[in-house]
Amino acid sequence: MRLSDPIAPSYYVDSAVRAAGPSRAPLRGEHETDVAVVGGGIAGCSAALHLAKRGYRVALVEAREIGFGASGRSGGQTIFGLATSQHSLIAEVGRADAHRLFELSVEGLDLLQSLIREHHIDCDYRPNHVHVAVKPRHVRELADWERELREDYRYDSVSLLDREQLRAHVASDRYLAGLLDTRSGHLHPLKYTLGLSVAAESAGVRIFENTRIVRYTAGAQPRVEGAAGLLRCRHLIFCGSAYLGPLVPSIARRILGVGTYVVATEPLAPARARALLPSDAAVADMNWILDYFRLSADRRLLFGGRVSYSTLQPRRLADSMRKRLLQVFPSLHDVAVERAWGGYLDITMSRAPNFGRLADNVYYLQGFSGHGLVLTALGGKLVAEAVAGTAERFDVFARIPHRDFPGGALMRRPALVLAMLYYRLRDLL
Ligand SMILES: Cc1cc2nc3c(=O)[nH]c(=O)nc-3n(C[C@H](O)[C@H](O)[C@H](O)COP(=O)(O)OP(=O)(O)OC[C@H]3O[C@@H](n4cnc5c(N)ncnc54)[C@H](O)[C@@H]3O)c2cc1C
Repeated sequence: MRLSDPIAPSYYVDSAVRAAGPSRAPLRGEHETDVAVVGGGIAGCSAALHLAKRGYRVALVEAREIGFGASGRSGGQTIFGLATSQHSLIAEVGRADAHRLFELSVEGLDLLQSLIREHHIDCDYRPNHVHVAVKPRHVRELADWERELREDYRYDSVSLLDREQLRAHVASDRYLAGLLDTRSGHLHPLKYTLGLSVAAESAGVRIFENTRIVRYTAGAQPRVEGAAGLLRCRHLIFCGSAYLGPLVPSIARRILGVGTYVVATEPLAPARARALLPSDAAVADMNWILDYFRLSADRRLLFGGRVSYSTLQPRRLADSMRKRLLQVFPSLHDVAVERAWGGYLDITMSRAPNFGRLADNVYYLQGFSGHGLVLTALGGKLVAEAVAGTAERFDVFARIPHRDFPGGALMRRPALVLAMLYYRLRDLL
């Protein structure tokens, strides 16, 4: 499957200073390196950075520009945990590994903070995140979740908010309760990704942009090839997510590229912005096909939601997103939507991330299922550990079992569209 270019340009492209200046040069001629990384999102940049810090010679190849994929387009919400529930993880990998996965996600939150600090990445990070209940059953789910997080996982930065308490964070009549987490938060995802790429370059990584890898050969010395050049390496890491396409069919079958969308309003006056989101928290609702939103540093409401499993972009995207936004904040009826864009998520059947090896010296990170902002940088660190010979933590992720999407190349997408219709109906109950 070849994904069409999502709607562009995003608000992020407008507002990020391309710290590294214009595009880096494409890959031309033959090069040798210790590690080649394919894909310049957060996962690839983090893997490259952590490997360079360990003394490896690293080359990173990006088909477009750094941050072109989901990493530079996302909702920017940095949240604990994985996209799948802890209950599902326990069923898949047992209690001990499920606990370790949760702990690793919390380590991911700390890693994000330390990367920002250590490399002086100016990416507008703000603490606080709230999951909000749209229906009475969500209120019960949030209460159970808080208990489980505090008692089973000793994660004590969360607190349950009733409807009145929630208004101190989200001034909307739509929501019945909330689960606030002060360790989660939000940031400008493109600035963060570009910052990581600059840090990687400073640590010695060679970055080639505008080079799509079109061929890969395994072996003691794997090779990747673009239109005008090739890289030989000792270790190879694929971090192409939904954008990787059919280059590696065995891992492409495990994920499905799902289009999802974000809009940015015009900037709001400071008092008006504060009245909507008084603690400047990021917000995500509890529906399967969820609405999520937050304020940018220049006080635009960034509002995300909708998915397109058929990869068709919803027509009149800005209008339809505006309708959803007004359900949450009707007072914004006079505010213009200035930008609307989309990107592709790499979802797995179980919504757990998919890390693994294609050979002893060929690794991949994918399948973040819409919850990758924190786990991608962690994944990059873990794959660097694995390349350096300590795979224990990488293997906690690699042990998660994964199934191919059923239906083969032609039928799997229609089958998923049907499955998603079911979840849309469930959101109505
Ligand atoms: C609209 C949207 C909103 C989201 N919101 C959130 C959120 O609020 N919180 C959250 O946690 N997660 C969110 N996500 C998910 C999160 O953004 C992703 O999980 C994460 O960014 C994935 O990072 P990555 O590095 O694995 O892949 P990507 O960022 O997708 O990077 C992959 C890169 O690989 C390159 N590439 C692919 N194939 C090749 C090739 N053959 N040769 C060279 N380069 C190649 C691509 O061009 C691309 O730049 C969102 C995603 C989207 C699309």
